[in-house]
Amino acid sequence: MKILLSNDDGAQAPGLAALHEALLPLAELTVYAPDRNRSGASSSLTLEQPLRVQRLANGFYAVNGTPSDCVHLALNGVLGEDPDMVVSGINAGANLGDDTLYSGTVAAAIEGRFLGRTAIALSLVGRNPVHYATAARVARQLVEQLMVSALPADVILNVNVPDLPYEQLQGMAVTRLGHRHRAEPVLRAQDPHGRPIYWIGPAGPGQDAGKGTDFHAVEQGKVSITPIQVDLTAHRRLAVVEEWCRGLSQT
Ligand code: MN
Repeated sequence: MKILLSNDDGAQAPGLAALHEALLPLAELTVYAPDRNRSGASSSLTLEQPLRVQRLANGFYAVNGTPSDCVHLALNGVLGEDPDMVVSGINAGANLGDDTLYSGTVAAAIEGRFLGRTAIALSLVGRNPVHYATAARVARQLVEQLMVSALPADVILNVNVPDLPYEQLQGMAVTRLGHRHRAEPVLRAQDPHGRPIYWIGPAGPGQDAGKGTDFHAVEQGKVSITPIQVDLTAHRRLAVVEEWCRGLSQT
């Protein structure tokens, strides 16, 4: 079993080291990760400049690109042989609901969707989370289970782990993505030359965060496991848009 690891917090992040340590007994690991924090990179690829790969002392490879670049590079030419699956994380902070749209952690897993096995994105909930060992143990359990019992390869598991000692977890829950309120307003400040600068504000609180959602599960101290997919088609809206199109002028 060969596993490619990546993340969006960067090759030096503690979550990546914890993930590596936890999965080392299970598989042959290769690590390609951004050379700096690329949180919020989503599924972006670097197309207008060359990518460089640097081998670090611990054997991880650092890339001057996004999480998607890292996995894309590894799978499409850099690694001699495809790994069996991609595991991404452990992110320092939640990737719940709408976060998944922006998350580089999730994007790295998504980039592994062409492989034969379910990709996993792991996040540790909290602003400055500390219990990486908990999430690492969960990661090992999930990979072990996938080795015993495969899931459809086009499913990506978005996993959020409460920042608790392992013994205090309240079990696991399979969830759907909830939704957040709108983000906090951007912060406006001034640069030393008096010009306006802006900081993107933090994500909004959970809005659709009731029972069955990822927000609710982690609130209950449970590991949230959401199967996600890449197909963005609004299947339920196909009919209404078809009807709407009939009203378009034919001229
Ligand atoms: Mn991150």
